[in-house]
Amino acid sequence: MIKDIIFPPRCPICEAIVSKLGMACDTCKDNLPYIKEPRCKRCSKPIGNEETENCCDCMRKEFHYTSGKAVWIYNKTMSQSIGRFKYQNKQEYAVFYGEEISRLYGSWIKDNQIEALIPVPIHKRKKSLRGYNQAELIAHVISDNLEIPLLRTGLERFKETKPQKDLTLSERMRNMEAAFTSGKSQIGVFRRVALIDDIYTTGSTMEACAKELLKLGVDEVYFLCVCIGTSV
Ligand SMILES: [Zn+2]
Ligand SMILES: [Zn+2]
Repeated sequence: MIKDIIFPPRCPICEAIVSKLGMACDTCKDNLPYIKEPRCKRCSKPIGNEETENCCDCMRKEFHYTSGKAVWIYNKTMSQSIGRFKYQNKQEYAVFYGEEISRLYGSWIKDNQIEALIPVPIHKRKKSLRGYNQAELIAHVISDNLEIPLLRTGLERFKETKPQKDLTLSERMRNMEAAFTSGKSQIGVFRRVALIDDIYTTGSTMEACAKELLKLGVDEVYFLCVCIGTSV
């Protein structure tokens, strides 16, 4: 298990040595871009005006998920941390991310009666190159903390999608369409599930997964993410 192999533990933000795995150093902890109110009721992106319920993205598009939460804004500091987590084998960062999600949204998960966690899948080829699916590592930590089942299979990413960052919103949606498929799975026995991922930007990945899960007979799909982009 990740917890035993990393020594000394380091801050997942600035890489300074910390006393315990799964924590950030004091300086980073105080400076991280935690999302505060007012935030979008749907996707939890920060919004400017307290009178509005939803961010521009959620006003523009009808998503199939019910609602979701993220911990931090995807700023430069967070993108560097997540970059190391994904591309430099810093798998242990999942402990910090997953524990922050559990601490902040454990009661939200219970209030919404979420019965299972489903990591957003990555393509098989990517997984074998990287050696792990980062979303699955995070989901594993939350599942352990809150004792909610983690479903590893059921959703599969069968299309390798183009990088999303240079595409417009509608291009992103199209890019993601039919990128996920659901094989034989037990997912349909759960009524309320939460998708887990590292980053939420326009929501097109979540949307594609949510659609698949609803097709399988799930009633409500929620999501939990480490970081979320700001509304454009
Ligand atoms: Zn630090
Ligand atoms: Zn929103």
